[in-house]
Amino acid sequence: MFEKILIANRGEIALRIQRACRELGIKTVVLYSEADREAKYVKLADESVCIGPAPSAQSYLSMPAIISAAEVTDAEAIHPGYGFLSENADFAERVEQSGFTFIGPRPDSIRLMGDKVSAKQAMIKAGVPCVPGSDGALPDDPKEIIRIARRIGYPVIIKAAGGGGGRGMRVVHTEAALLSAVTMTRTEAGTAFGNPEVYMEKYLENPRHVEIQILADEFKNAVWLGERDCSMQRRHQKVIEEAPAIGIPRKLIERIGDRCAEACRRIGYRGAGTFEFLYENGEFYFIEMNTRIQVEHPVTEMITGIDLVQEQIRIACGEKLRFRQRDVELKGHAIECRINAEDPFKFTPSPGRIVSWHAPGGPGVRVDSHAYAGYYVPPNYDSMVGKVITYGATREQAIRRMEIALSEMVVEGIQTNIPLHRELMVDARFIEGGTNIHYLEQKLAAKPDLKRDAG
Ligand code: ADP
Repeated sequence: MFEKILIANRGEIALRIQRACRELGIKTVVLYSEADREAKYVKLADESVCIGPAPSAQSYLSMPAIISAAEVTDAEAIHPGYGFLSENADFAERVEQSGFTFIGPRPDSIRLMGDKVSAKQAMIKAGVPCVPGSDGALPDDPKEIIRIARRIGYPVIIKAAGGGGGRGMRVVHTEAALLSAVTMTRTEAGTAFGNPEVYMEKYLENPRHVEIQILADEFKNAVWLGERDCSMQRRHQKVIEEAPAIGIPRKLIERIGDRCAEACRRIGYRGAGTFEFLYENGEFYFIEMNTRIQVEHPVTEMITGIDLVQEQIRIACGEKLRFRQRDVELKGHAIECRINAEDPFKFTPSPGRIVSWHAPGGPGVRVDSHAYAGYYVPPNYDSMVGKVITYGATREQAIRRMEIALSEMVVEGIQTNIPLHRELMVDARFIEGGTNIHYLEQKLAAKPDLKRDAG
């Protein structure tokens, strides 16, 4: 096992990785920007290195600064967390070339899956069903683009090959709007992701977002660890996640899970990963793969009893998977609410000093957060300050526990989206289950009084 790991991330995931390391008896080196000096995981680390000023480009995205920090602290491996450089194949390559282990997939797998066009092509080859769409990136010829859209049928969605984080997508309902949408998405994609390539997909009107968690080792052993339903979204960003996904025949999920594990063996995938699908009318359609640990990984941990971050570390260390598919047992139900520092109904960021912070507890309640009373939420990064996860023998129990946990939770000094989550925990449609990716936005649009009450 490694003796020392460098954590190249911040926030709750830095603390989460640190906890996994401590349990495995591994020392941790934590990187921090000047804005994160006060973070809890910095104080808990065996060593910490300030790598630059607050802007990510000069700190958490600075490859030379991160590699030098690993060199001066003699770390053996680097865990990239999620976001930042976690899906950057060049970074993974530089880490390995500098003599460290990258805790994640091989650079070529990251590259293959990081480009959504090549990812889809690889999945089609591996027999994983995809959303009907253009065969690869869209050509320049406008007539050809129009022809592709007619073949797919409106509405269509134009997506950036290098897109992520719910950005770089545009829905097109009519032919008149098509070409300008393609041009705009190309321009935006070029600026935001450094890759102007776009592709086209059928826009599914009422799908659910259901994803499969996988783990694979160096030796072509791959298992899937159940699914997660992440349909509760706003602006294509997940707000609540749960496992398992209710109301979908287990046989269908098992078939798709097995295909994902098979695809991993085929491409020689190593590490943790997620295959994201849209699910509509009894069919699964692959949309993309994330080659890293995800924000919502705890719900899978709760229902499988498997620590995904520890498994990532074991795999990176060259160990064989310690379980087979038949050993994976899904038990109970788990829900995660992302706690963001933001106005709960206007969604504007609300950084600042947390004056008081009381995290909930009790049976089946887990809080993953780096925040505490006195902690300053910097304005420089994403607004998530933690996650509340509840577990229950049934979905009803998990929801009830979440409702109680959120009512116990106190965060003062900044605004958070806790009131929105509380509203959702008693929402009849959510309780019923199986809502689609548009439900939250439709609810917010239909209930303008929610906005007033929040003030
Ligand atoms: P990102 O990498 O930015 O997260 P994804 O491809 O995973 O992008 O899509 C994010 C979300 O966008 C999905 O969960 C879904 O809500 C929506 N979406 C993406 N593709 C489609 C599609 N073809 N039809 C309908 N909605 C889609």
